[in-house]
Amino acid sequence: MEPDALKNAVSTEAKRLGFDACRFAPAVRPPHSDAFLQWLQEGKAGEMKWLEKNADRRTDPQLVLPGAKTIIVLARNYAPQEGSPATPSEYQIARYAWGEDYHEVLTPRVRALEQILAAHGGQQRSYVDTGPVLERDYAVLAGIGWHGKSTMVISRDLGAFFFLGAVLTTLEIPPDQPAVDRCGRCTRCIDVCPTAAITAPQQLDARRCVSYLTIELKGSIPLEMRPLIGNRIYGCDDCAAVCPWNRFAKSSTEARFAAKGFHTSMLLRDFLSLDDAGFRELFRDSPIKRIKRRGFLRNVCVALGNTGTHEDLPSLHKAAAEPEPLISEHAFWAIQEIARRTQLAEGPLASSPA
Ligand code: SF4
Ligand code: SF4
Repeated sequence: MEPDALKNAVSTEAKRLGFDACRFAPAVRPPHSDAFLQWLQEGKAGEMKWLEKNADRRTDPQLVLPGAKTIIVLARNYAPQEGSPATPSEYQIARYAWGEDYHEVLTPRVRALEQILAAHGGQQRSYVDTGPVLERDYAVLAGIGWHGKSTMVISRDLGAFFFLGAVLTTLEIPPDQPAVDRCGRCTRCIDVCPTAAITAPQQLDARRCVSYLTIELKGSIPLEMRPLIGNRIYGCDDCAAVCPWNRFAKSSTEARFAAKGFHTSMLLRDFLSLDDAGFRELFRDSPIKRIKRRGFLRNVCVALGNTGTHEDLPSLHKAAAEPEPLISEHAFWAIQEIARRTQLAEGPLASSPA
């Protein structure tokens, strides 16, 4: 098959598999390789040591798939339906975790796309966010979108809420043109960040990012960062949500990305009564299961420390007696924070003359 005909066939199949965009980049060194290595060297990846371990592969697709010629970049929109059930105002979960785990939803589809390439003699490797590939760089090279100041890829058509997948293939397929940067003078994403994690346009200090602190960080959340996390219990997408390019995006047609029932039915303190089996059952299909009960309850304690009231204290005292030190330490902190806030609120009134 001629390269152009193969490109059409792959695009058609990607559309049939439900992808909103399918574009093609040459399998060259990612343009941000040097910046990525520098970022690692500066320690801004925090505890994400796996990024260092395979940094050589991330900056050379030939080490991932020898003979790779093309990287096919796929995008799937997860923008929630207008008026779809969100989390209660008591807490926030980032939109990418409202529905089923996107790795599980998209990986079989990306693998299915490999078949058409294999039938034409190609060798392939495919990834959805978990492989040694700088997917965002190739998404920009392929013209899915541009590197926003938030460091996310922003698309004219899809806005900021889409997942990426990548298929490396040894087949030569004509590349698409990169997209033009359309951030202009906008700085909304930088301004809205609750932790000042976007230190300059396209510069993220992951150690300050709520997504890192609540998902990637396995241990104790630094004390100075806890108040900044507010009521976010899994990830953060504030910088994506404010992007003005979302106004052109349509809602996702993927039912599996729709919000789960617990988003509207559970109070923050209810999560503290989950045992291991209860946690696994509640988050069976959700990406939240990745941080396990200890990580999730740690986050819930931080949110309660920032927003809870005396009504939450019985649940927090129970959590403080947990054998898991990560949970008990954060529960103690939350109890102290609630006590401090209560004293601040009641102190002057209680001591004022009648
Ligand atoms: S995800 Fe949240 S904390 Fe992280 S950079 Fe964006 S706005 Fe800041
Ligand atoms: S919010 Fe503004 S600056 Fe940030 S990525 Fe979107 S357009 Fe660019």
